[in-house]
Amino acid sequence: MGTKTKSAEILCIGTELLMGDIVNTNAAYIARRLAELGINLYHQSVVGDNPGRLRDSLEIAFSRADIVITTGGLGPTYDDLSKETVAAFFGRKLVLHAESLEWLESYFTRLGRPMTENNRKQAMMPEDCTVFPNPNGTAPGCAIEQDGRIAILLPGPPREMQPMMDHAVIPFLQRFQEYRLVSHNLHFFGIGESTLEEKLRALMTSSINPTVAPYAKTGEVMLRVTARVQDPAEADAIMAPALAEIDKAAGEFLYGVDVGDLQTALCRALKEKGLHVALAESCTGGMTAARLTGVPGASQVFECGICCYSNAMKEQLAGVRPGTLAQYGAVSEETARELAAGARRAGGAQIGVGITGNAGPEPSEGKPVGLVYVAVDSGWYQETITLNIARRDDDARAYIRTLASSNALNLALRACRAYPG
Ligand code: ATP
Repeated sequence: MGTKTKSAEILCIGTELLMGDIVNTNAAYIARRLAELGINLYHQSVVGDNPGRLRDSLEIAFSRADIVITTGGLGPTYDDLSKETVAAFFGRKLVLHAESLEWLESYFTRLGRPMTENNRKQAMMPEDCTVFPNPNGTAPGCAIEQDGRIAILLPGPPREMQPMMDHAVIPFLQRFQEYRLVSHNLHFFGIGESTLEEKLRALMTSSINPTVAPYAKTGEVMLRVTARVQDPAEADAIMAPALAEIDKAAGEFLYGVDVGDLQTALCRALKEKGLHVALAESCTGGMTAARLTGVPGASQVFECGICCYSNAMKEQLAGVRPGTLAQYGAVSEETARELAAGARRAGGAQIGVGITGNAGPEPSEGKPVGLVYVAVDSGWYQETITLNIARRDDDARAYIRTLASSNALNLALRACRAYPG
């Protein structure tokens, strides 16, 4: 394992960043990766494209961290000064790096563009550094090591920085790891963050290895269980008691482990069972279909989504009976059930889901804002749920629609899991 516990600091370079013209997503990305590596991170900072202030920032960063990771300022233009400034900080010259020059030449040949003298500058690297190639752009990154200090220079554009971090920097840093962090993300639906916390308070506050931390997103809660181990093979055993406790307390709301989101969980479950789903959506207007088709491989499990907003289209496309609409209204349990059955029929799918509700801002047919019905229909499982979503702020409409769509995915998942054959 590692030779000594190292701590790191992130220093992002760029005047656009400093002035708030762009958001510092690089720092967040690198911080997450360092946490996964188990490398301590105590500070992040931002400095403009100014060599004097960059030098001062390096001085400060190295006074409290062993590894300083910079992003930005590696480009070909006059204000890209990171390499020069960091090399000078370590008393090193820039020398031509033949492989980088070759790569740049072939890059410009492929593009059919001439290579300028400015671009050649990008092949000048600090002497005796480790070069990280950049397959997604022109500026290579690098690491300079001296007297136990390590400066890692990465390009600014996230689409260049992220793969370089993942494929070059992480393997480079792995030798400094004292231990590893292994996490499982547990996804819950239908239980609020506070209720879940109440059920698991003792575990969340007292467990040190693994740690259990909650994260909330619209209508959902995620628990991240993280074990700190020497060998990843030990992680399962360390996590098992906490996972069992969580399952006992809230297993009925757990829809997936390391699965990302409801739509991915549903697609996976449908695929496993060889089932197909079809939708008829009114108030969500295709949102559920869009979420499902955002999952790679959805074509293997998703038949169709009918977006039927008007009553006429509910009748015509989803086969809702005019009498049902007249007697109970479009926003009703009965209509939701007929939408689900109609979707199933239209798609020739084993599972049909219907969604109807009032997303606001005004009551309609005398039905309050936030009243939503979601129904699932299949040969072995039927259920209709009523939601009364009380939120009334500016984002209420979006929230009601998202929650309606999440409930639809969750009901389809329940039907899928209940499939007997
Ligand atoms: P290039 O090779 O494109 O010149 P560079 O390494 O010189 O890259 P900068 O010129 O500092 O990087 O930034 C290029 C672009 O990358 C910025 O305009 C911005 O869109 C993005 N970028 C830079 N730093 C960050 C950051 N910390 N977070 C998110 N995006 C960033």
